[in-house]
Amino acid sequence: MSTPPLSCPNCRSAFVSWRTERVGDVLCDSLSCETCGTLCAQEDWDLPLDPTGPGFCRNCSGKRRGPICSRCGLSAQDDAQVHLELLELTGAKDLLSGSALAAEKGRRLLALKLATAAVYDSPAPGVARLLRISLLQDLDLLQAALFECQSWVRGPGENDPHAWSLLGELQIACGKRGLGLQALEQALELQPDDAQVRGRYASHLFDDQRYAQAREQALLVLSSKDSVASTLGLGVAASYAQRLKGQRDQAAVEDLLEDLGHWVQRDATLSAIQAWLFNQKGAQREAQDALRQAHKLDPKHPLVGELEDLVGIKRWSWFGW
Ligand SMILES: [Zn+2]
Ligand SMILES: [Zn+2]
Repeated sequence: MSTPPLSCPNCRSAFVSWRTERVGDVLCDSLSCETCGTLCAQEDWDLPLDPTGPGFCRNCSGKRRGPICSRCGLSAQDDAQVHLELLELTGAKDLLSGSALAAEKGRRLLALKLATAAVYDSPAPGVARLLRISLLQDLDLLQAALFECQSWVRGPGENDPHAWSLLGELQIACGKRGLGLQALEQALELQPDDAQVRGRYASHLFDDQRYAQAREQALLVLSSKDSVASTLGLGVAASYAQRLKGQRDQAAVEDLLEDLGHWVQRDATLSAIQAWLFNQKGAQREAQDALRQAHKLDPKHPLVGELEDLVGIKRWSWFGW
């Protein structure tokens, strides 16, 4: 294993940086000079893409026959030695921090190798697995990330809500939406108060046109104190309200806005739809107040422009607010 140069061999610039790139069919960590563009070093490690598990090689994820890997031929001892040398390249003391450091520097293949070894050898295999899966996702190796996650929930991650929610998102990203929603449900069963997972679940339900369930989940999310999740829940509620308005289902809009309570004033779409609802009921002053609120939150919102004539607000009068 050769040590990569600290400066450019061509122009001596110290501004050299790593990035992971595809060269033909092969993924490489490449070190390039930022001044003259010279390629200073390139590493294309054997990548462990198949799921980790007892009896598999850290180096290439092949199956071991006795002590020898049936794919790359490394003995268990050489396998361990290779990863010690890889760790030395990062200057870190343990596999997990070595992996994080390599990823931060742009050496994502090296990071993946160290995270994989950490699944076997670190005292926090669950954290290592999360890191390994997120690196596979970053490298756009979604199938490999999905397979790793599937093997995780079949084994030590069986009762881990993070493993299940990650599996759900990966399945949805790979086009398996039904299975993905089921995995998210499993995650929520294990950890019902994870509002962010519930927010994403609500959003996926809406995308799958399961509107009644999406509505119910969005309201649950909004009853949490999590601001990130609230944004998701509010987004789902606003999309649903917009759909109901499109159907001119006044009763359902009214019902939804009533359930949302004070959240309506926090969202431009919902405030504008409230203006529409007041207008339908002949309450023009309330309609104007609601549209002013929508304008305050988002002056360029298309519904604001669409409704200003209807509720009797002159375009120029916004400037007074
Ligand atoms: Zn250079
Ligand atoms: Zn191997």
